[in-house]
Amino acid sequence: MAKKKGNISVQTENIFPIIKKFLYSDHEIFLRELISNAVDATVKLRALASRGEVSGDLGDTTIEVLLDKDKKALTVRDRGIGMTEEEVKKYLNQVAFSSAQEFLEKYKNEAAIIGNFGLGFYSSFMVADKVEAVTKSYQDAPGVTWACEGDPKYTLAENDKAERGTDVVLHINEENKEFLEEHRIRQLLDKYCKFLPIPIKFGTRTETVTEGEGEDKVEKEVEVDDIINNTNPAWRRQPSELTDEDYKAFYNELYPFSTPPLFWIHLNIDYPFNLTGILYFPKLGSNFEVQKNKIQLYSNQVYVTDNVKDIVPEFLTLLHGVIDSPDIPLNVSRSYLQGDSNVRKITGYITKKVADKLSELFKKERESFEDKWNDLGVFVKYGIISDEKFYERALPFTLVRNTEGAFFPIEEYKEKIKENQTDKYDKVVALYTNDAEGHDSFIRAARARGYDVLVFDNVIDNHFMQHLEYKLGNITFVRADSDTVDNLVQKDEKQESVLSEEQEKDLKAVFETLVTDGGTVQVKALSPDDLPVAITKPEFMRRFKEMQMLQGMQLGELPDSYNLVVNANHPLIAGKLLEEQDKEKRSELAAYLYKLAQLNQNMLRGSNLTEFINKSLEFLK
Ligand code: ADP
Repeated sequence: MAKKKGNISVQTENIFPIIKKFLYSDHEIFLRELISNAVDATVKLRALASRGEVSGDLGDTTIEVLLDKDKKALTVRDRGIGMTEEEVKKYLNQVAFSSAQEFLEKYKNEAAIIGNFGLGFYSSFMVADKVEAVTKSYQDAPGVTWACEGDPKYTLAENDKAERGTDVVLHINEENKEFLEEHRIRQLLDKYCKFLPIPIKFGTRTETVTEGEGEDKVEKEVEVDDIINNTNPAWRRQPSELTDEDYKAFYNELYPFSTPPLFWIHLNIDYPFNLTGILYFPKLGSNFEVQKNKIQLYSNQVYVTDNVKDIVPEFLTLLHGVIDSPDIPLNVSRSYLQGDSNVRKITGYITKKVADKLSELFKKERESFEDKWNDLGVFVKYGIISDEKFYERALPFTLVRNTEGAFFPIEEYKEKIKENQTDKYDKVVALYTNDAEGHDSFIRAARARGYDVLVFDNVIDNHFMQHLEYKLGNITFVRADSDTVDNLVQKDEKQESVLSEEQEKDLKAVFETLVTDGGTVQVKALSPDDLPVAITKPEFMRRFKEMQMLQGMQLGELPDSYNLVVNANHPLIAGKLLEEQDKEKRSELAAYLYKLAQLNQNMLRGSNLTEFINKSLEFLK
């Protein structure tokens, strides 16, 4: 056959300049596209062979990536079905070209195309001046070489290729010479091709092997093909075939050098959509810094993206692992994805699976579930807050922990404290602390009253409590230092005051001269066993401020609002303080008690603290 020349398409505008610049900031996807084609050609060949449509032995079908720096050439070689001359014309000149054209037309102005799928074969012109396809079909036909130099003209010539398959040779252009570097190609293979189903060879590596037995045993260095991919990744296998070690090893394969996961869920569904995958629960602890190991999205083992934000619910992005689905539309924009019914189904399915797994763990391995709650809690709470469906499923295993270290599902907890901790408005009042050490005296006082105190010390807990209050309706959360213990659960069972109204007024005045930073003085008739003076921080104001701070709002100088509660019934107050006739001494004693209260709330700092310590030392002398 003489060399033929032709125009890929005469009617249309020249798309090559657009391809060359193209919308992707990443030119690198060309390699994935070419290797995907090579994989497809090989898979097709195997399918034909299994149907008896290809005769003889298929031979080695390993795909090869070859780098020739001197010739500035990068070749993707497969031993798949190959193409006849007619097929080259049809597939490369028509199918590939028009789909590239259609793709560009559609997405020219689209900023975010999920996974950047679609441009296919012609994406090679992003990085190459000239592309050749040297191919020979599995059918009995002469080999052909197609060549194109990045304009609508192409040439076609017969070749004497003996082996079945296709070599796509890219003559890499000057601006993209990074793709002639071995380490760069290796990096791309690792990113996009790590789990492709056909072995991919990139050069060779030396391996040490031992030969012989006993005395004759020798170690030898041998050159072996460097196969860069695992063709049978864990998520494509049956859960029954896999041990815990396999799952952990696969996690390590995905994210080398990371902390082992807590547990995992193997996803496997083929109706009404196709999806496989493994989701791992990482050790979250109390932090949200988890973005580094992202969920990877694959389509038939081809890496697509690790940006799955619109495919899985936001809270599930805290998980790690792999989702593989050919049913997720890949070359569409984000806004479209959210409305896609398949994607919505997938989202719902994953949420359900995750909730089911957690529920099962909770029921079957309660102790281990509790042990892991520190890590799981963040995740579950995040889900509860942000996803209504998940809330419904997860509420039964959403735990709270009290200061004694005991765990309870929230609804069970509510029942438990109901009798003792219901206020006069019929609301169940759950007490909590975010700092068990710091609130020690308040916790003791509450417990002495027979109240239980929860520990809520995660950044998410503020939102979590708020959400529970909203959803559960008749429960309210109050921090142990929000009010005096008799008032934490308002029940109208007040102690009688031992002081007269006049005395209480005097007392209030004494302390009011001391409080100059926005606090309010209250004189209350508490139990003589309660503290003489205590500082409480009203729940509502405090939480309001915390929420605003979490949302990064600047509040200006809103003073820390607090109450200085003076216990009229405490012997030090009713007795010593009020009996003191010397005004100065009285004020001094009041100031000392006030500072003790500040100390108890970690509000005494700097020079005030130093003064207080010096004063205490003086007393001791
Ligand atoms: P897609 O792979 O999405 O169909 P491409 O533009 O990548 O689009 O390729 C167009 C067509 O060219 C393929 O469908 C296939 O028929 C043919 N083709 C591309 N690469 C190869 C190859 N390595 N071996 C055999 N056929 C190929």
